[in-house]
Amino acid sequence: MGNYNTIKAATTCSRCGERAVYGIQCSYGAHADGCLETLSVGDSYRTAPGHHPYPTEDVAGLADCHLCGLDFGVRVKLVTGTIREVTPEPDALGAAPDGHLTAPIECPECRTRGETQIELYRAWETTNLRLGSVYRTTLPVQGHRIRGRATCQYCRHVFVAAVSLSGDVLSSVAVDPNQSEFRQDVHDTAPAYEGGISLSRGSGRPR
Ligand SMILES: [Zn+2]
Ligand SMILES: [Zn+2]
Repeated sequence: MGNYNTIKAATTCSRCGERAVYGIQCSYGAHADGCLETLSVGDSYRTAPGHHPYPTEDVAGLADCHLCGLDFGVRVKLVTGTIREVTPEPDALGAAPDGHLTAPIECPECRTRGETQIELYRAWETTNLRLGSVYRTTLPVQGHRIRGRATCQYCRHVFVAAVSLSGDVLSSVAVDPNQSEFRQDVHDTAPAYEGGISLSRGSGRPR
């Protein structure tokens, strides 16, 4: 059993475009003792002791798509403790990668530059991609940049890589300056997601 609430809401899978009602896992403010709820848009979102009782915040959730079998990030809008809206968060990293890119990148931890495996989350095919490979996706790529989870083969440091596209070809990789939406425990044992990430910018919440 996971430490998350479930929100049943209609939204669109940002991996494959399927629109359906999904059970969205949201661990924000959830009870550690397993006292968890199944909720809908319009319901009050009760938080565990130690959290704000009536939060106004955008928080992260994760849904599993029944059609493509992958997970996708969702933004849950809370207004004074009520679930107002659920929208896809296309830039959020899911827990299940759907493509693997191997490319040279300098590890921000140990500064070693080497061939690094980067898990991509929006590709249609699970293939061994390289720089120069065509990236097949049905989804619009905002700003010709996609994000992936890189693992340093030397020190095992995990970080977010930004992969640039030239047309539909993977052209370059760099360390993403925005590492903040990423949590290393995201692929811990099932359930796939620890959630609870504040998506509100500048809210000052220490995470
Ligand atoms: Zn899907
Ligand atoms: Zn390293």
